[in-house]
Amino acid sequence: MPLALAFSPHLDDAAFSCGGTLAALAADGWEVVVTTLFTASVPAPAGFALACQTDKGLPPEADYMAIRRAEDAEACRRLEVKPVWLPFREAPHRGYGSAAALFGPLRSDDAAHLDLASALEPLLAQHRPDLLLAPQAIGGHVDHVQTVRALHLLRPAARVLWWRDFPYLARRATHPARPFERTMATLPEETRPIRLENKRHACAAYATQLGFQFGGPEGLARALDEAGPQEVFRAGAVAAA
Ligand SMILES: [Zn+2]
Repeated sequence: MPLALAFSPHLDDAAFSCGGTLAALAADGWEVVVTTLFTASVPAPAGFALACQTDKGLPPEADYMAIRRAEDAEACRRLEVKPVWLPFREAPHRGYGSAAALFGPLRSDDAAHLDLASALEPLLAQHRPDLLLAPQAIGGHVDHVQTVRALHLLRPAARVLWWRDFPYLARRATHPARPFERTMATLPEETRPIRLENKRHACAAYATQLGFQFGGPEGLARALDEAGPQEVFRAGAVAAA
């Protein structure tokens, strides 16, 4: 059975950006694993990191990441893919102290790309995936950028489908960064068959994110409609950074 391995920065990115493709691969007989990278629970968060959970309506004592891992488990069930969670800390726990900082320059003390590369290298060696899926880091979220940088370091042998990051693709006015645009533009575009209903159903499982990102489930449905039914990738080997 061929293996597709998706590297999702956060608990929702892969489903949001290419869930239809993942579900179609699974339906086509592929084993599909969604490895989400930044999923560590951090006890007693403070400051901006705490605000990131309380502004989603969750009390300070809630284990925000455990709730989101459970959402991801349900989303993956709806896509018929397997979730794997790596224990890296999201950017608010690495010194990024505001919403703007999440989409700003990388901190000089942020070596997450090296940590990710160290963790992903044995995964790639062990599983030898036939296909990788990863973000283009459209919008420039630092966790997405570090994911791309880790893959640039690793230069995996498998072909990569670089997805267009949803919802940032449609938010150029507020999230203008396209840090790898020139590199990605050297790769051909590829449109894949998708299972749209599985994707819509899976995306709705990320309940904690829907109000914040879309104003609620109806807003998510609208944003998915506006994005259109296709998922367009840049495809190829890992290009030079
Ligand atoms: Zn993300």
